[in-house]
Amino acid sequence: MNSPPLLQQLITALRCLPGVGAKSGQRMAYHLLERDRDGARHLARVLAEAMDRIGHCSRCRTLSETELCSLCANPQRDASQLCIVETPADQAIIEQAIDYRGNYYVLGGHLSPLDGIGPKEIGLEQLDQRLAEGEVKEIILATNPTVEGEATAQYIHDMARARQIKTTRIAQGVPMGGELEYVDGATLAHAFRGRSEI
Ligand code: ZN
Repeated sequence: MNSPPLLQQLITALRCLPGVGAKSGQRMAYHLLERDRDGARHLARVLAEAMDRIGHCSRCRTLSETELCSLCANPQRDASQLCIVETPADQAIIEQAIDYRGNYYVLGGHLSPLDGIGPKEIGLEQLDQRLAEGEVKEIILATNPTVEGEATAQYIHDMARARQIKTTRIAQGVPMGGELEYVDGATLAHAFRGRSEI
């Protein structure tokens, strides 16, 4: 069987981007072919290299080109504070929005038993080992304020309590059901400062 024409393959491939449907995929494909072939070639090169070379930090699970990410490798960071987020994007937003000097732990999702996502799938066994090291004194729960995010926060809170580690939850200003990624920096900073112990 013949494969579809390249133009059609390009449009279909572009649709893997979030928010890109048939129409915008087509618009992008024509734009690249007619107006920006150099930009498209550059995009293709960087895309391929990023996919090959960016993995996950062995300690905090965020995206990293190296075994340890630059934050985990930085001895100036306060190892007694550990901020738990769902995604590398959430981590980047917190890091940009506020003056936080502690470390992070990236779950890569949230508990979702119906989808087969349990504690192991979001790295909670590895997190528990980290807590057992005894260095972490405060866990800051910055999971999304959704039902799943709250359930995940509760689970981690129970884990931390079993090891007598204080947990705080960012709250104020982050709308219920919202996602950190879409909260502005000032609101996030306020939510972070106003975190309360649970
Ligand atoms: Zn790391």
